[in-house]
Amino acid sequence: MSGIAVGAVVAGVEVPRVPTQLFIDGEWRDALDGATFDVVAPATEEQLAQVAAASAADVDLAVRAARAQIDGGAWSQLSGADRGLLLYRLADLIERDIDVLATLEGLDVGRPAFEPRMVDLPNVVDVFRHFGGWADKIEGRWIELQPFFGQPRQAYTVREPLGVIGAITAWNAPTLIASWKLAPALAAGNAVVLKPAEDASLSTLHLAALIEEAGFPAGTVNVVTGLGHTAGAALVDHKGIDKLSFTGSPETGRKIAVAAAQEFRPVTLELGGKSPQLVLGDADLAAVVPGLAMGFLANQGQICAAGTRILVARELYDDVVSGVAEAAKAVRLGGPFDPETRMGALISARQLERVTGYIAKGTAEGAELVTGGSRPDRPGYFVEPTVFAGGGHETSIAQEEIFGPVGLVLPFDSIDEGIAQANGTRYGLAAYVWTRDISVAHSVAARLKAGGVWINGSAPPDPRVPWGGVKSSGVGRELGFAGIEANTEEKTVTIHL
Ligand code: NAD
Repeated sequence: MSGIAVGAVVAGVEVPRVPTQLFIDGEWRDALDGATFDVVAPATEEQLAQVAAASAADVDLAVRAARAQIDGGAWSQLSGADRGLLLYRLADLIERDIDVLATLEGLDVGRPAFEPRMVDLPNVVDVFRHFGGWADKIEGRWIELQPFFGQPRQAYTVREPLGVIGAITAWNAPTLIASWKLAPALAAGNAVVLKPAEDASLSTLHLAALIEEAGFPAGTVNVVTGLGHTAGAALVDHKGIDKLSFTGSPETGRKIAVAAAQEFRPVTLELGGKSPQLVLGDADLAAVVPGLAMGFLANQGQICAAGTRILVARELYDDVVSGVAEAAKAVRLGGPFDPETRMGALISARQLERVTGYIAKGTAEGAELVTGGSRPDRPGYFVEPTVFAGGGHETSIAQEEIFGPVGLVLPFDSIDEGIAQANGTRYGLAAYVWTRDISVAHSVAARLKAGGVWINGSAPPDPRVPWGGVKSSGVGRELGFAGIEANTEEKTVTIHL
């Protein structure tokens, strides 16, 4: 049996009641074989829940339920305006339960709960409202054609939903990432089978309960919790899926792209990053340093767009190294519900091992460990905010995604060299430019190979702006009208007049 002990206190707070079963065809049910997996609170290493582990048979039920909604079910009969109303209602329910969702993310992800409360979850509400607004504005085009052997013709196009979307998400910002998949897919009239990451699925399960409460027809959204190589792989391989939308590592993304190619299925892949923060010689350091530090420390550095490579004009290098190190030292580690906490725990023992492994490699490969690098003496998967300086661009910590609170500062001698360094990894998700010269900022932005460039600041993606990466950071775009395009196909109708 899956479940949470009612009234259990973990990390000093009462665990909210949340379903821990699969949500299939509007019903909460255990896995057919009764399998579950354990969920541990990263900040205390206490057992938090047992969650249903879907097998291929459960995934099949979920895909069939979604398919029934596309093939004539109540969902397929709704107008765009009515789909929009459901999305608005869901946004209202998320807003109502924002504290519950923040508590779940604090417990399940180990991050300070104020982060999802103040940043991610208001953004999630905005995402659902933004796409609620799109639902009745998905229009086709009228195209004038050349006559065919003298016969006049016209064509028009219709944007149709793709059908059943298989969505797989990562654990670092679970509700936000789920909203990027669900909101555009539903606005466009698709049905969804969503598999959240096994490391943090509780907030997505609560989101499913809100989807049920909002009144979406049963089967429109199905949530199949479970492990990647079983539930995730079953979803990827299921012949009833029309498109796969994935957020996670490039390694898993590649497997999904290969599997999707076998069936000629479209994919959206939101993958990792090693994003540069370029600090030009005219930057106002007092204003910039807090932003640089936040860029790789927020959410314990477990953000795909984290600005982990700080590339600095040589004349500012020493000041940036010491400024960022001081900012890192001032960050207070602690439990997710302590109001003084500014940084929490990493997601798992495995992630802790990965991050400390990179810290050891950084030192071994010749970078200077300026601050941090150790584990505090307390339970939980904590590691200190860590700053490296120097060592060159070819080290592992300069090239590979660590996904932890580890920043590297490197100098450059000209803007051309800085841009070459910024573009010099396999990734291309985000890039940040810090300068007071707005015209230089635009010309640098034009030369950066990244899905998105931020000038003099950073924030989570706004739902109005396309989101995605280039190179090994991904394929395709979510959010904005690009999110609607990614969840529809344009059909043409040609009329011989
Ligand atoms: P991961 O690839 O290990 O897992 C992601 C998801 O894929 C999980 O739900 C997992 O269960 C599932 N999965 C694992 N193996 C699978 C398989 N064989 N078939 C199908 N599904 C499978 O990644 P992670 O460690 O959970 O997440 C961290 C990565 O995600 C980082 O690289 C990070 O940069 C990236 N990320 C990207 C974005 C973005 O928007 N670009 C956002 C957040 C995280």
